[in-house]
Amino acid sequence: MMADSRNASLFERARRSIPGGVNSPVRAFRAVGGTPRFIARADGAYLWDADGKRYIDYIGSWGPMILGHGHPAVLEAVQRAATEGFSFGAPTEREVELAEEILKLVPSAEQVRLVSSGTEAAMSALRLARGATGRSKIVKFEGCYHGHADALLVKAGSGLATFGHPTSAGVPPEVVQHTLVLTYNDVIGLEAAFDAHGAEIACVMIEPIAGNMNFVRASLPFMKRLRELCTQHGALLVFDEVMTGFRVALGGAQSLYAQAIPGFKPDLSVFGKVIGGGMPLAAFAGPRAIMEQLAPLGPVYQAGTLSGNPVATACGLATLREIQKPGFFEALAASTRGLLDGLLSAAAAAGVPMVGDCEGGMFGFFFPKTAQAALPQNYVEVMATDGERFNRYFHGMLDRGVYLAPALYEAGFVSAAHTRADIEATLAAAQATLAAA
Ligand SMILES: *Cc1c(COP(=O)(O)O)cnc(C)c1O
Repeated sequence: MMADSRNASLFERARRSIPGGVNSPVRAFRAVGGTPRFIARADGAYLWDADGKRYIDYIGSWGPMILGHGHPAVLEAVQRAATEGFSFGAPTEREVELAEEILKLVPSAEQVRLVSSGTEAAMSALRLARGATGRSKIVKFEGCYHGHADALLVKAGSGLATFGHPTSAGVPPEVVQHTLVLTYNDVIGLEAAFDAHGAEIACVMIEPIAGNMNFVRASLPFMKRLRELCTQHGALLVFDEVMTGFRVALGGAQSLYAQAIPGFKPDLSVFGKVIGGGMPLAAFAGPRAIMEQLAPLGPVYQAGTLSGNPVATACGLATLREIQKPGFFEALAASTRGLLDGLLSAAAAAGVPMVGDCEGGMFGFFFPKTAQAALPQNYVEVMATDGERFNRYFHGMLDRGVYLAPALYEAGFVSAAHTRADIEATLAAAQATLAAA
């Protein structure tokens, strides 16, 4: 298809020196087939590939680029920080400023520690939860991704409330023997797991709006029951908001559940993506009494050479300041809603079954195999949607200059740089794609 393209020749060259040609597997387009685009540069809502073709970007580096690419205030902050030094391995004022900014926006947390990736943040939160409770077992949900720490690379086994199996070679079964994998949005399974193991569960980790099985919200009854069970059994509720934090709302998904469930808050929260604004930065946060279990104050070890990196924190701070400007989330949510509604009506007009959901600047859509299908509520239902149709749609959009996530189990992201004209161009591409398919 693109035999003499620079994307294709770069991919061929990349595969010689880098496993699969990529530094993170989903970039290789294995789920959708075809040649990944090598990105040469980006500006605002657009990416340009190695052949000079322009795309409207609905991945935004998988979430961080909430302001669009190259926002002037962020660029300036990063440039200034870079001239002052790349890394010191010593504390800086800027780390304190970023910590204060995060705590201001996340009332459930009193202290926060900065790290360099979402994987590291989730892994550290897990260790802290185990250290603080003195318990070993953890609960996660099928279809939620929390980075690639060994204990979290687990899929469901067979039967109810069963301990999981490693999803990766190189993870010994003993390492995941304490990880229970449950079905998302399944209250009965949750109750059964707590009945059987409640006193041994250190924490339950959840993506409150799952963005790694496309876009699936935890229902209110499910979240309410989850909070009750954790409290009742002394397990910590850990919100993995690496994707949803500062993205679905200024206060993250937890602010939305707190509006709906009086007094609701998670015990620990994990952040990444938007808080780095595109630089390697992530964090985990919680009440002082738990966070002070961390070294150097407490017995739970955790560290990082580049943690709180001065250039990354400058990028994150500038980003967090921009998203707090009045009307920012209202405008972002309106663009995202406009995009999703437009995609759904284009599909309806073409007689193609499509369902979708969105919150703030995050969205997802599915092609159900039957016309009357509702939104998927868990991983099995997501994976039962029409993957062939998704792949055709993905490539049709890509050919027409719209860059969607290259797998049906990934969410999409809109930035503040996406204009009404960008959304309209996207909807025109959707109509043309559906007409051609
Ligand atoms: C992206 C993501 C992670 C992992 O973050 P990395 O920075 O890629 O290590 C963890 N949890 C969730 C919910 C994510 O979306």
